[in-house]
Amino acid sequence: MKVDSGFLHTLHLGGEFDANLCMNCGTCTALCPLGIELMPRKLFRRVLLGDKESVVGQSETIFSCLLCRMCESNCPAGIHIAENVRSLRTYLNHEVYGLAEA
Ligand code: SF4
Ligand code: SF4
Repeated sequence: MKVDSGFLHTLHLGGEFDANLCMNCGTCTALCPLGIELMPRKLFRRVLLGDKESVVGQSETIFSCLLCRMCESNCPAGIHIAENVRSLRTYLNHEVYGLAEA
């Protein structure tokens, strides 16, 4: 894994991203109606670690999220999960796909 120490900073330019209080409890993953094993717990951890390559490689998963907030409304740490996903999409659209809008 190649760490990109500026990844989180770049991500913040496209919106809010905050998962620092995540306890890795897995409630979000258990409740996700899509059963996406990666979302959001593991994905957010990769973001915090600066594992940009891995996150970019999961863009299909990031765009498949329904933004239903089932995970968010049950997160014991109060993480704004949907907002974080939106920020990731904005980042991917701008930095990877070269699009102007999220
Ligand atoms: S439910 Fe919240 S605290 Fe638990 S793993 Fe998911 S994001 Fe982290
Ligand atoms: S907002 Fe996305 S990650 Fe959260 S439960 Fe809904 S589909 Fe799953």
